[in-house]
Amino acid sequence: MRSYLFPEFQVFRDESKCNQCRGCERQCAFGTHIYDPATDRMQTDETKCSGCQRCAIFCPRNALVVRPTPPYYRPNEAWTREKIDDLKKQAETGGVLLSGCGSDKPFRIYWDNIVLNASQVTNPSIDPLREPMELRTFLGRKPDLLEIDDCGEICTELGPNITVEAPMLFSAMSYGAISYQAFNSLAMAAREFGTLFNTGEGGLPREMREEFGRYATVQVASGRFGIDAEYLNCARAIEIKVGQGAKPGIGGHLPAEKVSSKVAATRMIPEGTDAISPAPHHDIYSIEDLSMLIYALKEATNYELPVSVKVAAVHNVAAIASGIVRAGADIVAIDGMRGGTGAAPKAIRDNVGIPIELALSAVDRRLREEGVRNRCTIIAGGGIRCSSDVIKAIALGADAVYIGTAALIAMGCTLCQKCYTGKCNWGICTQDPRLAGRLDTRIASQRLVNLLTAWSFEIKEMLGGMGINAIESLRGNRDHLRGVGLYEWELDVLALKGAGE
Ligand code: SF4
Ligand code: SF4
Repeated sequence: MRSYLFPEFQVFRDESKCNQCRGCERQCAFGTHIYDPATDRMQTDETKCSGCQRCAIFCPRNALVVRPTPPYYRPNEAWTREKIDDLKKQAETGGVLLSGCGSDKPFRIYWDNIVLNASQVTNPSIDPLREPMELRTFLGRKPDLLEIDDCGEICTELGPNITVEAPMLFSAMSYGAISYQAFNSLAMAAREFGTLFNTGEGGLPREMREEFGRYATVQVASGRFGIDAEYLNCARAIEIKVGQGAKPGIGGHLPAEKVSSKVAATRMIPEGTDAISPAPHHDIYSIEDLSMLIYALKEATNYELPVSVKVAAVHNVAAIASGIVRAGADIVAIDGMRGGTGAAPKAIRDNVGIPIELALSAVDRRLREEGVRNRCTIIAGGGIRCSSDVIKAIALGADAVYIGTAALIAMGCTLCQKCYTGKCNWGICTQDPRLAGRLDTRIASQRLVNLLTAWSFEIKEMLGGMGINAIESLRGNRDHLRGVGLYEWELDVLALKGAGE
């Protein structure tokens, strides 16, 4: 059947610069560039281009420009080019439309409508270059009361807490969805910076456990891939994944072609079979069931690891979070609707869930109102793009944030959204050894550490400007935030005053 689709991208080759080195042909796993020996010229099949920009960035002579094709259709506010193209794809394939990355739809990004405070005259600002600034963050349940004995020592029994150097953790990305090299880079960066990476639902390769287990949050997802006592006990924290912001309410599917022998061994499944995680955990249908799993995991790890429960940000997330805390979780992780993924049905990714800013504020307020906020750490993820998003999230009530898409971009990702094809030209979202080998773990981990370091400097600057010298003092402190251009109901949900008030 002839496709009625226009190519999404145009590839321009400056023939005066191109010396037919065929580098672009090697860079492009999608087969866009083809060498024609008859003419000794490079040819281009634009229909295959994903717009990942790999060839343009790596062209040694800067001979390539890749850019989106103009919208050739008559302008129509209802039938945008994307709507028409999606419909044509379905008419041609009869299938569900898949996509990678987080939703790119123009939902309001509340971070951009919230401004921070700064000290003037009284309560002077602090110079972070001269004064100590504390970003260290403790993850885990805190006691209701601290009892001090006669010698001045704390005698309250504290639950397991984890110290990270800054309130930023790498979010769950499984080996299988991402390459071994990308997975390893996250682990190396977590160790060097002093934070945690998250195994996602794909297990932790055995040879990494001794070296990186202390920097790992290991996930227990509905597929139960790669879980045994050693996996749980080598880690620093355990996370029960109930939901994911990019695809709330549905399960996961790692296609058979991405299940290499090593991925299969790590997940404890046969090589070359589809790894399907069901939408629900088949043993969780109530808060009591969730509680049983939380305590089973605590029991299996001698009550030495905090247990997190990750849920997608959905309509009644505050009540859900309250139940999770009462079920015994030490950490509640909330994943907003802009959270990334390796593959999700577009219809789900772009239409289900709520923005993390609203969910976070609602959860923090509800837990405070119920007097149980201290019993858990809140980690917010799904849409954290920069240091100012981090600091606003802390002021809205998070203890720490998860960084996923930003970490991928630091490693080279260009958000082409073709992760589900397994042909990531940047070596991140692929199990093809030729492509994965492109990602130098030493360089990628350095880029990740640089990112966290840069954000930490910026957070310290902003904290200092507010006259605060410890990130903990900012947590849930909405007095340092104001909304700009927001409706009354949005300010109410965020529990913020408008600018000028
Ligand atoms: S898919 Fe990427 S590497 Fe291939 S032609 Fe397009 S921009 Fe270049
Ligand atoms: S990880 Fe790779 S395939 Fe996925 S969006 Fe980024 S560059 Fe594209």
